[in-house]
Amino acid sequence: MKDNKPVPFKISDSQQKYRRVHSSLNTVFTLSFSIVLVLSSIVALIAYDRLAAFEKLLDDTTATSFPKVMSYAKMYSQVNELTYATDSLTMANSQGQRRIAFDDLKVKISAIRPRVVELGNAQRLLMQLDVIAQEIDALNALIEEQLTISDLLLKQRRAVYRIHDIAIHDEELAHSDFAHTVSRLVIMAEEGLSFKRLNKIKNMSRNITKFYNRSVETLNFEDSQKLLLSDLYEGLVAADGAMAMKIQSLRVLGRTHGRADFVRNLVIDYARLAEYESFKYNGTVLEDIKDFSETVDAQTKTLGSAAIVTFVVIIIIVFYIQRRLIRRLVLLNKKVVSRLAGESIDLKVGGKDEITAIAKSFEEFAQTIERQKQELLKSSLTDGLTNVANRRGLDKAIKNLLLSAQRQQWPIAILMMDIDNFKKYNDFYGHIEGDECLQKIASALKSVMRRPEDFVARYGGEEFVCLLPNTPLSGAEIVADSILEQLKKDHIPHQRSDVADYVTLSIGITVYNAEKEESSDSLLKLADTALYRAKKRGKNCYST
Ligand code: GH3
Ligand code: MG
Ligand code: MG
Repeated sequence: MKDNKPVPFKISDSQQKYRRVHSSLNTVFTLSFSIVLVLSSIVALIAYDRLAAFEKLLDDTTATSFPKVMSYAKMYSQVNELTYATDSLTMANSQGQRRIAFDDLKVKISAIRPRVVELGNAQRLLMQLDVIAQEIDALNALIEEQLTISDLLLKQRRAVYRIHDIAIHDEELAHSDFAHTVSRLVIMAEEGLSFKRLNKIKNMSRNITKFYNRSVETLNFEDSQKLLLSDLYEGLVAADGAMAMKIQSLRVLGRTHGRADFVRNLVIDYARLAEYESFKYNGTVLEDIKDFSETVDAQTKTLGSAAIVTFVVIIIIVFYIQRRLIRRLVLLNKKVVSRLAGESIDLKVGGKDEITAIAKSFEEFAQTIERQKQELLKSSLTDGLTNVANRRGLDKAIKNLLLSAQRQQWPIAILMMDIDNFKKYNDFYGHIEGDECLQKIASALKSVMRRPEDFVARYGGEEFVCLLPNTPLSGAEIVADSILEQLKKDHIPHQRSDVADYVTLSIGITVYNAEKEESSDSLLKLADTALYRAKKRGKNCYST
């Protein structure tokens, strides 16, 4: 069975070197994609980290800071309401109004307390709120006392006016000393009660006492009148009389105003403190947000830069791969296609990597093929035995030489030769000797050819043809003589020849005339005819 396996190529030393040392394409790809992978991962990680931090800030702001800011604002407005409620308590005209205002204040204070606790780190605010609550209790007590005194004063005055009414409405008494004294005492009391200063009221009390004593001593009153006057006097200046009540009322009023002012200022201070704490907290929150947004801003820039760097690196890698690999592969493909189409161009693509190795391999592959093609062509045109051109080689050469002779307008001499009595030689010496004789004849013919363009071929059997371009008949005859002379010199023994005792040959000469444009076949036929004539003439000679 025939083995159809392809014959392996011999790998050159340079190829061996590429095989061992270079795996640069692999390195280029691994390195490129590693760089892209690492850069992308870094960008993605930074982006993830920033998003997580941003989410945390949003959570903090919405879940903690924002409600806290709202709480501070609410507390501030509640404390402000406390100011108005304190005013309502201070201005209460009756115990009912006072109670309503006081209850309202208590509700408001207890509403503020949990908010202060909720906001934390507000010990000072809590303590101050306690002080305000205590002060409001005290203020309430004072107002209650003042309203009680006012009630008592009103009762005393009503009692005074009842006595006054008795004195004035009784017809008999209307113009008596009694009526006069009562009126005088009531007028003095009204004047005294209208004073705002304590010593003036005390003065008036003393004047009332003086006037009462003098009247009782100097004037004559009935016993019942004396009793009424005494009641009137007691109602005005006794320890619980109208004048004393008035003094007490003024004293309490003074304390009430003082305390009310104090409470008011406390509440205003408290409101300011709450406002300050609120601003302080808002400031902290704003500061935090500002800090964070600056950080985010900086990191956004870093992220942007990283993304740009990654993008640029990818572009560079793509550009590098395009330039270093794709372009060279495309070029190599183009060159290989051109080379296959028969153009003789080199396959160099530059660089020192696998592509270079492929190009080199292909170059060697192509060269081997071309060499083998040449060898095949040569062997198909060469005679295996004598190593001169065979019949096919002769046909090819004769066509080319005729074309150039037509162009150059020069003659071609054609010598057709046939060994004399070669059958006998074979018969006598054997075929192996015959073959060797043919080889010697071919060598002899080649040695006679002087010009490089002179051509020798084995026409068939023991027949040879010589083509002598640009040679006229005279030249051909000289060459024919040289051939016969050379064989004589070589002297290959031939005992059975009936011409000589060595191997001879006969030559037929014809000369191609460019003007006649004869075909190669007819020329060879003409030469053969001339050869026949030479044989006829006795062999070992030439004929034209
Ligand atoms: P002539 O002088 O008239 O040319 O006679 P010849 O014997 O040379 O011519 P013929 O045509 O009768 O014989 C040619 C012989 O050449 C026949 C064959 O034995 C021999 N021959 C042809 N080719 C080869 C070859 O390749 N090798 C050998 N050894 N002999 C060959
Ligand atoms: Mg013959
Ligand atoms: Mg012969």
